[in-house]
Amino acid sequence: MTRNIFPDRDRFLERPEKEQLLKQHGLVVWFTGLSASGKSTLAIALERKLYARGLLTQVLDGDKIRTGLNKNLGFSEEDRIENIRRIAEVGKLFSDCSIIAISAFISPTHAIRSMAREIIGKENFYEIYLSTPLTICEQRDPKGLYKKAREGIIKDFTGISAPYEAPADANLVIDTSNYSVREATKLIYDEIISRVKI
Ligand code: ADP
Repeated sequence: MTRNIFPDRDRFLERPEKEQLLKQHGLVVWFTGLSASGKSTLAIALERKLYARGLLTQVLDGDKIRTGLNKNLGFSEEDRIENIRRIAEVGKLFSDCSIIAISAFISPTHAIRSMAREIIGKENFYEIYLSTPLTICEQRDPKGLYKKAREGIIKDFTGISAPYEAPADANLVIDTSNYSVREATKLIYDEIISRVKI
């Protein structure tokens, strides 16, 4: 009798096994857009809508990540790249575990988003560009950051003193000044539900 030298118990469980357990496919929903374009608001609303339908999610949000995993990082060019690299790696771990990760970071450049897409894998990366115009974002200014950027208190602020490169190939583009939170959430939900639900 030949003996299997790699018995099942020594093998990592694979993603399909976890997808069967949770009855959902993993995915990383990657929001990008200016500050106050609506990323966090829609990440939270989307998570709630998916949760209400029995789908497991994890929001990766700036405040959470910068006070925890990435608390040793600042805002230099190098640290901004490292910030996104780690977030992408964490998103990949969640999606490999068949969980829907929802990330809400400005991620302003083509290069930084390409890096995230490469780490996560194209087929697991769903990019949503919130194309809300700068004038609207600045009017909203929920955290007073634009005001501080205009006064020069915050340097290198995306949209004011640092560039935002709009993605050309996002899976979905939403200008949140044209939709309510509820409508925008439904648009996103309708697009992703067939990808995540088994
Ligand atoms: P970001 O995470 O992109 O910095 P936030 O979600 O923190 O943006 O802030 C967006 C602000 O815009 C919130 O105060 C939110 O209530 C408001 N807002 C108004 N309409 C919308 C909409 N349709 N979608 C998302 N946010 C909206």
